[in-house]
Amino acid sequence: MTDAKQTKTVKTIKINADLCNGCRACEVVCSAFHAEPKYSSNNPARSRVRVIRDPLRDLYVPVYAGEPAGAECAGRDKYIIDGKEYDECAFCRAACPSRDLFKEPDSGLPLRCDMCEGEDEPLCVKWCITDALTLEEREEEAEEQEEPEELEFGLESLANKFGWEKMQDALARMAQRE
Ligand code: SF4
Ligand code: SF4
Repeated sequence: MTDAKQTKTVKTIKINADLCNGCRACEVVCSAFHAEPKYSSNNPARSRVRVIRDPLRDLYVPVYAGEPAGAECAGRDKYIIDGKEYDECAFCRAACPSRDLFKEPDSGLPLRCDMCEGEDEPLCVKWCITDALTLEEREEEAEEQEEPEELEFGLESLANKFGWEKMQDALARMAQRE
């Protein structure tokens, strides 16, 4: 009997900074897509992709919001690539206490790229006319589904720790956000 493995499609965005001209269309469409209501406004500060721009030095680097960092890191190295100097923070994808990047301007909550959930193709990729951003898809072996008993056990231990009332309250708030 063959053991057919489950696979899942993993989507990633490939960045070719050499092709970026700093037009910031990606920032505009991302912030408009995530506005409340959708497309009601655009404010690049709400974008999940930011373009580090320094036109005088012909320097454009699109960077995506990833995992937030709880604390500042210690490193402040510089990189020189093809004669252009970059701060270490230029490539960092984290919302972190040392800067305003990738933080929702009103609440200060960290922003994270969600690959335009619900869309066929990430909008920043669609709007990037120079192809600095392209979508790549690959098949990966899917992790085994979590057994329901384990999930129930996990919920029970959380409830024991925090109390059912707090759990219900948190679940109700999560449901409201959907
Ligand atoms: S849309 Fe493309 S070319 Fe324009 S800033 Fe964004 S990555 Fe660069
Ligand atoms: S994939 Fe969507 S959410 Fe992520 S940066 Fe691009 S437009 Fe924003």
